[in-house]
Amino acid sequence: MPDKLLETLDHAITEVIGPQASVVDATAAFPTATIDALRQQGLLGLISATEVGGMGHTWGDAARVVERLARSCGSSAMVVCMHYCGAAVIERFGDMDTRRAVAAGEHLSTLAFSEAGSRSHFWAPLSTATADGDDVVLDANKSWITSASHATAYVWSSQSVAADGTITLWLVPRDVTGLAIKGPFEGLGLRGNDSAPVRASGVRVPASARLGDDGQGFDVMMGTVLPIFQLCNAAGSLGLMEAITAAAIAHCAGNRFEHLDSALADLPTIRAYLARMRIETDKTRTLWEDTIAAIEGGREDTMLRVLEVKAAAAEAAMSVAALGMRVCGGAAYRKEVGVERRFRDAQAASVMAPTTDVLYDFIGKAICGQELFS
Ligand SMILES: Cc1cc2nc3c(=O)[nH]c(=O)nc-3n(C[C@H](O)[C@H](O)[C@H](O)COP(=O)(O)OP(=O)(O)OC[C@H]3O[C@@H](n4cnc5c(N)ncnc54)[C@H](O)[C@@H]3O)c2cc1C
Repeated sequence: MPDKLLETLDHAITEVIGPQASVVDATAAFPTATIDALRQQGLLGLISATEVGGMGHTWGDAARVVERLARSCGSSAMVVCMHYCGAAVIERFGDMDTRRAVAAGEHLSTLAFSEAGSRSHFWAPLSTATADGDDVVLDANKSWITSASHATAYVWSSQSVAADGTITLWLVPRDVTGLAIKGPFEGLGLRGNDSAPVRASGVRVPASARLGDDGQGFDVMMGTVLPIFQLCNAAGSLGLMEAITAAAIAHCAGNRFEHLDSALADLPTIRAYLARMRIETDKTRTLWEDTIAAIEGGREDTMLRVLEVKAAAAEAAMSVAALGMRVCGGAAYRKEVGVERRFRDAQAASVMAPTTDVLYDFIGKAICGQELFS
């Protein structure tokens, strides 16, 4: 990724995105300023092809943007993570007008996979798609959609029209008749990410809203969505870890026991905890960079790395966040160090599908030579 692009992103983070992060958290407000700043820089069209007006960058670069955002604002990072996931599907299967709109930053995307019935098992939608002339009628009880009230359209999963046990993906406009968004989002962390349940009752979309073939949805989930989601979600965890570690080091180096004339960081116990935080963060970055290299190089171990990276990053982020709270003591509990918000933000990744537990099962199956979905 060109240094110049990262410099302009860092400028927006310093000037706009960072300063509003605690307000986004406190008020559970959608990070509109972030989206506007990224739109102005062309970064919402980062992975769109240059032929439709995008920047033509890689999924690894998308993850790099998410990682930098997460250092300042976890909610912004999650909104952009889900946008890039939806954009990757649209880039592959969307019509030219939609692809151009994404490239120009006029279309905010997201995924609508999780359902109340099949919960985190995104590969098993219970929602239906029924052909009716040139239209398709969608009925669903979606349980979580990031940017639910702000996305232009959702990349939506359902059972196939053929109803043969396969999955189909659709582009469903947010403002279509028959959709009911249940807000506002009241989350523990990532409080600005507007992740709400959405019910579809007889939602009518043209058959041309289909993304890919009828029944191709599972392949798209595994071949397109899974790699970019895992990379960007891990990037969010990594950015949080970097921020927590830096804040904890600054706090421990800069705060003193006056009666002892020594800093918190003069305590060997505190230094050892900081060392563990640094090691976990560096290990995660190494695995994340290797996963990007595996995807971009088409390596044989790509699927294993893709499965590993989100589980490793999510668990490491929770452990680093807990250590950050510990070394910063009561100051962290009172929010003044900036660790507490990230501690809450860091809890989401492990329960986002595929959850850490499901990934452990998948990885175990993969290394034992078993089918993932047996
Ligand atoms: C902040 C946030 C944003 C989100 N955004 C989106 C979005 O944009 N789009 C979207 O589609 N979804 C989104 N989700 C939903 C997410 O992907 C999961 O579907 C959701 O978090 C699962 O919650 P649940 O209560 O249904 O979990 P459950 O499925 O009930 O899981 C409960 C527990 O059971 C474990 N478990 C489940 N299955 C297995 C198994 N086979 N083996 C072992 N353990 C298992 C899980 O690991 C978990 O610990 C979001 C979630 C969060 C928290």
